[in-house]
Amino acid sequence: MGSADVLQIAKTSFEEKFQASPTIAVCAPGRVNLIGEHTDYNDGFVFPMALELVTVIVGRKSDSDVCQLGTIAKGADEPLMISFPAPTPEKPLIPGKPSWANYVKGVIANFPGEIPTFDAMIATSVPLGGGLSSSASLEVATYTFLEKLTGKEQKDLKAKALACQKAEHDFAKMPCGIMDQFISVMGKKGNALLLDCRSMEAKLVPMTNPDLVVLVTNSNVRHELTGSEYPTRRKQCETAAAALGKPSLREATMAELEARKGKLEDVVFRRARHVIGEIQRTTEAAAAIEKEDYEKFGKLMVESHNSLRDDYEVSCEELDLLVKLAMEVDGVYGSRMTGGGFGGCTVTLVKKSSVDSLIKHIQDGYGNKATCLVTSPADGAKALSL
Ligand code: ADP
Repeated sequence: MGSADVLQIAKTSFEEKFQASPTIAVCAPGRVNLIGEHTDYNDGFVFPMALELVTVIVGRKSDSDVCQLGTIAKGADEPLMISFPAPTPEKPLIPGKPSWANYVKGVIANFPGEIPTFDAMIATSVPLGGGLSSSASLEVATYTFLEKLTGKEQKDLKAKALACQKAEHDFAKMPCGIMDQFISVMGKKGNALLLDCRSMEAKLVPMTNPDLVVLVTNSNVRHELTGSEYPTRRKQCETAAAALGKPSLREATMAELEARKGKLEDVVFRRARHVIGEIQRTTEAAAAIEKEDYEKFGKLMVESHNSLRDDYEVSCEELDLLVKLAMEVDGVYGSRMTGGGFGGCTVTLVKKSSVDSLIKHIQDGYGNKATCLVTSPADGAKALSL
């Protein structure tokens, strides 16, 4: 489903609900991370690209004294329509139920200046909770909608992304890094984005070869774990950095880590080996893409996957199987799990001419449980014409 289809759906549901036509339409994409996993909270590099999957918001200023907002997304918690008064300094917005509205309210709360009341509908082609960042696309679409509503365009794209990240921290209570909001704001068709999570510098890296596509494969599994996996790994990274006398693992080299091997708990050593290696792989991978050295990029993807599986221990049987199957097909350069792990998606770099046989091989080997999306780097948030 392209953004034009999502726009049409949003528009139709707005018209049904409000008996009027919207005057504003915006979209913001989901994302996939090509390489650089579990590096963001270690001040490292990540290398995402924006997807053709988007969240669309349509709406208009309203004469009423409340904002009315609805979503038609599958999987959002009830009620799907809400209303609330425009916030004032005396009565600011606060997070509450339904939880989906917190992403929108959080962005309103972090938008500079006052906003008028509005009516709006949200539709999306980004699957909710599928690891492709539907939440960041909703935040960034909301910010872009507010820019159009108020006529105040934020020229500083970094400030826009950071306001959306803050919304997620404060209102959705998710201590996420900067990747998802940055790529959803700054994505450019035909480019991936090399993002330095320490300096917050972002560099577009062209990826326009027409013979190349990216396959995102959703394993459609999410293993329920204890919930402590993420904080435990963060802590292990901090322990390793402290033992090496560094503010973060970004500052550490593999030689420095190796030199401390016997003094670190084995699991802490392996976590740090993943992070230090992955930061290095990510910059090498971006350089390889620039040189159109796809063999090298693919090799780095597989190394990344193996390191996430063996050292960071965040993969699972299904993701390992999807990567193994992908690597059996001619024309595949590389494949790896993407996202936090324990389920979710894999990402595969493959020749366009081989993608159909790749999908077939995955479906034969994994069963029809996998969903596949053939994609190329897409644009970041933008206004749409109605
Ligand atoms: P993801 O990887 O997709 O961002 P999260 O669990 O972080 O997964 O965020 C998913 C949540 O974001 C949903 O449960 C819902 O609350 C909210 N959300 C995302 N997109 C929409 C949408 N179009 N409409 C309503 N809520 C949405």
